Amino acid sequence: MQSINTVRADFPFLTQTMNGHPLIYLDNAATTQKPWPVLQALRQYYTQENVNVHRGGYARAAATTAEYEGVRMQVARLINASSAREIVFTKGTTEALNWAAFGGAVSLKPQDEILVTVMEHHSNLVPWQILAARTGAVLRFVELTTAGTLDWVDFQRKLSTRTRVVAVSAASNVLGTVNPVAAIARTAHEVGALVVVDAAQAIGHMPVDVQKWGADFVAFSGHKMLGPTGIGVLWGQRAVLERMHPLEYGGEMISAVTRNETTFKEVPWCFEGGTQNIAGVIGLGKAIRYLEQQGIATIQAREQRLAARLAAGLRALPQVTVYGPVSGEQRNGVVAFNVGSLHAHDVATVLDAQGTAVRAGHHCAQVLMDHLGVPGTVRASVAFYNTTAEVDALITQVERTEAFFKKHGMG
Ligand code: PMP
Repeated sequence: MQSINTVRADFPFLTQTMNGHPLIYLDNAATTQKPWPVLQALRQYYTQENVNVHRGGYARAAATTAEYEGVRMQVARLINASSAREIVFTKGTTEALNWAAFGGAVSLKPQDEILVTVMEHHSNLVPWQILAARTGAVLRFVELTTAGTLDWVDFQRKLSTRTRVVAVSAASNVLGTVNPVAAIARTAHEVGALVVVDAAQAIGHMPVDVQKWGADFVAFSGHKMLGPTGIGVLWGQRAVLERMHPLEYGGEMISAVTRNETTFKEVPWCFEGGTQNIAGVIGLGKAIRYLEQQGIATIQAREQRLAARLAAGLRALPQVTVYGPVSGEQRNGVVAFNVGSLHAHDVATVLDAQGTAVRAGHHCAQVLMDHLGVPGTVRASVAFYNTTAEVDALITQVERTEAFFKKHGMG
């Protein structure tokens, strides 16, 4: 990786102030910032390359189509997919997971079971809840250990021949827990279940190898990996994608249309109906190139180091509770905490006044909040462009917050 100052110079967002202080951006789990190569690519696309893809018989259209399809190959290489045809562009993780649930790759009957975990983001929970309600299937939850990791014994206990789907996050957006996806997929496949992985908090933060994972579907968003908003990916095993039906019908995804009948393009193009987010795809390609230049393993090591420092610093404060596993290996860059009995929003407001951006609330994981017995948490999430000084500043700010509220008889 380049020096931290060189890296930070690539992210114009980071040079701002907030409430009169230099901005400390620690909300990277919500969305990451975009480096110049991504921003310049968006400008370049709209100023020089703005034509529709897969149509138009002129040179520019062919060039932009080649660029668009080139990014599909880049994504395939990034996640070690066996073919670019296993890459479906979506709006983001949410859309990808909805397609996995409602695309018909799995058909459920009453009493079939869908197994999710208590730590799932609503995106990897609500679609399964709805699918269960529609089909009469039963939604079951794998519990967590007191350390905030997936309870493997409970997983094995709940997995049975009735289990048709196992839906799990590769990394939690609250606890920072990294789940053993390959072992989960192998075990779930022994009972013939479809394995769906929410990789929103893994992609760009750790090596993702879909062949090593061996799942059926993997979903992620471009905006959480330095790319633009409105673009994401559903990776599916080719045979599984062949079983899926499109969720949108119309232009572009067809092969031939007569008055009474339509034939469709092949996988994955049959899923990309209508004009796609071409700028988003091109920006995503530049984001992938940037991440690869920095080195994903290097990024992971740096983020784990920063998160470990932050978690340890916060844990050392008497009133602070930090959630999630302690060990660096099983963690990503997300650190959720509470300060005494203070409301998470109050803490975030005090931090905001000092220029620090963190998120407070349930983080789209209300089942997990229930499990933790709290209405919400504060969440700081690092990226490789954060500095040790920023992390230390947050620890000091939290310490001051704690002291301030204590002095005023609160918390
Ligand atoms: N899953 C996880 C674990 C997430 O963190 C998020 C985003 N917070 C999502 C899914 C949803 O991603 P998107 O909003 O980009 O669809």
